[in-house]
Amino acid sequence: MISLVGTWQESNEPSPNSVLPNPKKRFRKQVANNHVVLVSACLLGQPVRYDGQSKVADLSCLVNKDITLVAICPECAGSLPTPRVPCEIEKDMTAGDILAGQAKIKNADGIDCTQQYVEGSRFCLRMAQQHRAHHAILKEKSPACGTHMVYDGQFNGTLKSGRGVTAELLHQNGIKLFNENQCEELLAQLEKS
Ligand code: SF4
Repeated sequence: MISLVGTWQESNEPSPNSVLPNPKKRFRKQVANNHVVLVSACLLGQPVRYDGQSKVADLSCLVNKDITLVAICPECAGSLPTPRVPCEIEKDMTAGDILAGQAKIKNADGIDCTQQYVEGSRFCLRMAQQHRAHHAILKEKSPACGTHMVYDGQFNGTLKSGRGVTAELLHQNGIKLFNENQCEELLAQLEKS
């Protein structure tokens, strides 16, 4: 079975629109017995994207498996509002540069949101460590969650290879990353481990 744990906010208060249960006291028992996978909250139907919408993904291949999904939204965890002005990593820079303090991530109005992205990323890493998650399914193209592709910093829809800030921090800490179209690949990995 899939167990859902709603943890994208540090307060542990459920969202008004949450579809996820939040039984904090049952977390450890569930987690101890199952594989644990971090999932971008928008893929699970949470309306947390910059435009106030979700982006539901087909994760049905994980049904009837012993897996706990932990919902995260790094942008929300970093205290960015929803809806919000979209952000992109500076042109010619990477998420690794941001985590190293050598680049910024700004929104389309030119406002520096680097601190919020870094703090949100650290929160999600703490969630992974707390729940002993070694895998994550994250929303491709997001400046926080992108696993292979992100927008190139020009706000014109052009993509480039690279990870979002949270994906990069999780990767640096040994979490295996998958996007919303790689559910089968993730399952194959979990079945081997
Ligand atoms: S892609 Fe990541 S940061 Fe963006 S809304 Fe979804 S969970 Fe939040």
